[in-house]
Amino acid sequence: MDNETTTQPDHRKLGQELDLFTFSEHVGSGLPLFTPKGTVIRKQLENFLLSILEPLGYEQVWIPHITKPELYKTSGHWDKFKDDLFHVKGHKNDDFVIKPMNCPHHTQIYASRLRSYRDLPLRFAEITTVYRDEQAGELLGLNRVRSITQDDAHIFCRPDQIQEEIARVLKSITQFYGAFDFELSARLSLRDPKHPEKYLGSDEIWNNAERILEEALLANNFPTPEKAEGEAAFYGPKIDFTAKDSLGRTWQLATAQLDFNMPERFELEYTAEDGSKQRPVMIHRAILGSFERFIAVLLEHYNGNLPLWLSPVQVAILPISEDQHDYAQTIAQQLKEQKIRVTIDDRSERIGKKIHDGSSQKVPVLIIIGKNEMADGTVTLRSSLFEEKPIALAEAVAAITAKSKP
Ligand SMILES: [Zn+2]
Repeated sequence: MDNETTTQPDHRKLGQELDLFTFSEHVGSGLPLFTPKGTVIRKQLENFLLSILEPLGYEQVWIPHITKPELYKTSGHWDKFKDDLFHVKGHKNDDFVIKPMNCPHHTQIYASRLRSYRDLPLRFAEITTVYRDEQAGELLGLNRVRSITQDDAHIFCRPDQIQEEIARVLKSITQFYGAFDFELSARLSLRDPKHPEKYLGSDEIWNNAERILEEALLANNFPTPEKAEGEAAFYGPKIDFTAKDSLGRTWQLATAQLDFNMPERFELEYTAEDGSKQRPVMIHRAILGSFERFIAVLLEHYNGNLPLWLSPVQVAILPISEDQHDYAQTIAQQLKEQKIRVTIDDRSERIGKKIHDGSSQKVPVLIIIGKNEMADGTVTLRSSLFEEKPIALAEAVAAITAKSKP
């Protein structure tokens, strides 16, 4: 390996050094286990996503992780996922499979009640894990796993609501990616105009849907999308979003897919204003895609130096000697009251060693306290986020709190 490749951040190494996740031979390959620190990252991402979705009218739903195989035979996924499915047998030899996706389940929540045009759109969101039996040789740390946690959502709407719904999806993507320094670009998968017979749905529906997707991107300040004619699935056009990371690599993360097919297969309906029965349009959308892969991308993008709001430990307090241990407790208490995640390094090590260890654990804020700080009720912050000088404790707590949100 040349120098360039050896210095590239590797999330597997970072995950080990920072104690974020692990794999166990007893559990199996491609099945990551997240430690308390790694779980903080997952939860922070989850809370941030939900804080974006709730004001946009999404409702959370919950589905079981196993199902009768018939669900995927009806949805048409059986053939596509047949080889990747994990099978489960019940006591009476009933066959079940572990879900490789959530869409068919969500259609059944839609179908559980009569829906009127006034009920739409319905936006069902769920952060949930799907399982796919990827080949062991293809598994690469968190980049390719058998347990994939998706930030999934399915929107059921009338055809005249597609525009507004896509605009909301784009808004959520812009808001989410705005918290990270990724450059986003979009790619439109369109139908092959020479072979309209290969696609489900009328010309009018397709022309309209493709135009809406493109206009929505431009109206929401995305750069002109790349257009891939002939790459749409037969059931609807889609937008794939690509994020360019700090190393110049691109990752396909967010997607928005229109679907005219699944509502057909499950015979989903709503009663229109004139009393007739109509099919809703389904929109599948993901913002971060897979938590596992997104965390892998983030760790490498930041080389482990996560933003303050995502860091498992946000502040480490480093007393220079044992005399400052009580003062360290006071500081920790005040930070905890502001929901800041804090530790105290009360080992009898030299301060240089404590600073070294705090930095290698990539803790974004180190608070160093010695005799003078304790006497004056001040602290010194060592962090790329703040100036390094003694400041009043209350001022430091307020400054850290202010920067601790996405
Ligand atoms: Zn879906």
